[in-house]
Amino acid sequence: MGDQPARIGYLGGTFDPVHVGHLISARELADALRLDRVVWLPAKQPPHKAGRTVSALTDRVAMLELAIADEPDFAIDLRETRRDGPSYTFDTLSALRDERPDDERFFLIGADSLAQLHTWYRAAELPSLAQFATAVRPGTTIGDLAELGAIITDAQIRSIREHCVPTTPIGVSSTAIRRRVADGLSIRHRVPAAVEAHIRRRGLYTDATSARDCS
Ligand code: ATP
Repeated sequence: MGDQPARIGYLGGTFDPVHVGHLISARELADALRLDRVVWLPAKQPPHKAGRTVSALTDRVAMLELAIADEPDFAIDLRETRRDGPSYTFDTLSALRDERPDDERFFLIGADSLAQLHTWYRAAELPSLAQFATAVRPGTTIGDLAELGAIITDAQIRSIREHCVPTTPIGVSSTAIRRRVADGLSIRHRVPAAVEAHIRRRGLYTDATSARDCS
């Protein structure tokens, strides 16, 4: 890991649980952007998921550790779990810029989340803190970004467009995995085997009510 300036991709999420969609897109983004590492940023309390119960942080982090154990250039940063209140990307990226000003920072995001970026806390300032790199379905675009275009510069919009990375679409979500566990269905191959073993060992997601109220 060293302290040399590096190209680092940051991937925020709830990871409840981490699944192959996250892992495959992170790997493809890292390769396409020639990242030195991908830093996973589990959120303590994601601002947009305030209404639902999220699994214990210890479980979510344990599953992440198991999932990335074989990827030496993947790492976990727990800073968002240590802050009280919602995990704002603005606060995280500001701190990372101050700590490692010489890095090239990429914030890795899906096209669906990018379409909502204008609603994020202090959205207009985010593109000056990191380059936003968007995972897109091959053959698709990120749309006109009209709302975002109203609050950031044309150069920033161009740069976001230039950093679209086609990634293999994987139709897996954490919500669907939680539901499958609650319904007694197999999740094999949707999460790494060690993550599935953790879910079974800890009895996660077996409560159908909590699994369903998050869709
Ligand atoms: P939930 O179903 O609970 O909303 P999720 O599966 O979307 O969860 P998050 O932890 O919220 O997972 O996602 C973290 C990041 O991973 C987000 O940027 C999200 O767009 C991206 N992501 C989620 N699922 C996939 C997938 N199948 N392929 C690629 N990226 C994904």
